[in-house]
Amino acid sequence: MTMQSTLTQTAPLQANNKKSFKPHKMHAAVVEQFGKPLTLQERDVPTPGPGQILVKTEACGVCHTDLHAANGDWPVKPTLPFIPGHEAIGRVVGIGAGVTIVKEGDRVGVPWLYSACGHCEYCLSAWETVCPEAQFGGYTKNGGFAEYLLADPNYVAHIPAGLTPQEAAPLVCAGITTYKGIKETKAKPGQWLAISGVGGLGHLAVQYAKAMGLLVCGIDIDDGKLAHAKRLGADLIFNAKAGDPAASLKKETGGGAHGVLITAPSLIAFKQGVGMTRKLGTCVLVGLPPGEFPVPLFDVVANCITVRGSFVGTREDMAEALAFAAAGKVKADIELQPLSAINQVFDRLAHGDVPSRVVLDFSQRGN
Ligand SMILES: [Zn+2]
Ligand SMILES: [Zn+2]
Repeated sequence: MTMQSTLTQTAPLQANNKKSFKPHKMHAAVVEQFGKPLTLQERDVPTPGPGQILVKTEACGVCHTDLHAANGDWPVKPTLPFIPGHEAIGRVVGIGAGVTIVKEGDRVGVPWLYSACGHCEYCLSAWETVCPEAQFGGYTKNGGFAEYLLADPNYVAHIPAGLTPQEAAPLVCAGITTYKGIKETKAKPGQWLAISGVGGLGHLAVQYAKAMGLLVCGIDIDDGKLAHAKRLGADLIFNAKAGDPAASLKKETGGGAHGVLITAPSLIAFKQGVGMTRKLGTCVLVGLPPGEFPVPLFDVVANCITVRGSFVGTREDMAEALAFAAAGKVKADIELQPLSAINQVFDRLAHGDVPSRVVLDFSQRGN
């Protein structure tokens, strides 16, 4: 039984054949209680207020953060009920009063950084990602696990022609996160970048890093993912189960990687990552495993190593990250699923059983 047929049997969507057709109802996957399956509901299509736009969802990626949101895992929880999803791509179909920077028909992405204040010290220095008034898509604002969603036109991604919505979806979170993380390592073309974890985030990082002219070493505990990293252009690969990757990497690169990007949600990977960092290098953390990890102070101090966090990316990073994909240099591995499969997808994510990014494809109906 599919969502489409289930819902249409009980409550058909309003529809007509007029050209200016705007439905009043939409399908949405809603978190009503933390830790419980999402419910597939019919909801009113929201109306864009002043300064807002209405986006008709074409595709929305499923990120681990959506699972954390639905489980209420983090200290600041979303207000129930809410619609997750922060990798939504779609067409602008409604414009609120005063909106001039997008027009109906534009293809946009509604990312994790849903909006920011625009005037605090962070916004003024183009660090809107750490704005204290930032709102988050699919978390503090309803997201893309629905046929329509509202967005702030000042913060949407502009999807370049030539990218399909399904291809673009993972880039507005997973893509930008890895791209920004690589930038934050400050590694220059010709220098070494070590990428710890070459799965969902890491396979994008390998492609961005190669496109940016870096030498890439992929580290993982899964031989299949490592082989894939090699196919995507990694110059070196190490299986961390086979021995200390830091020692091997230092030997092969003559002192360690100039930049290290830790995408693996593993505290052991964090510790190893600091060990892989070359003197004066930077180790960037983008994975978010629960807990804390000890920093080996002597190594960090004596080798003048920088350890820093990086969190999604700014609008400028977004435009750059999408441009690499539009130029054919970066492509996410995706698996398409209908919205109705969201609970099965969450189960698989929770069990680490999703080899590539799942994208909810709103052009697939009733399957
Ligand atoms: Zn995400
Ligand atoms: Zn701000």
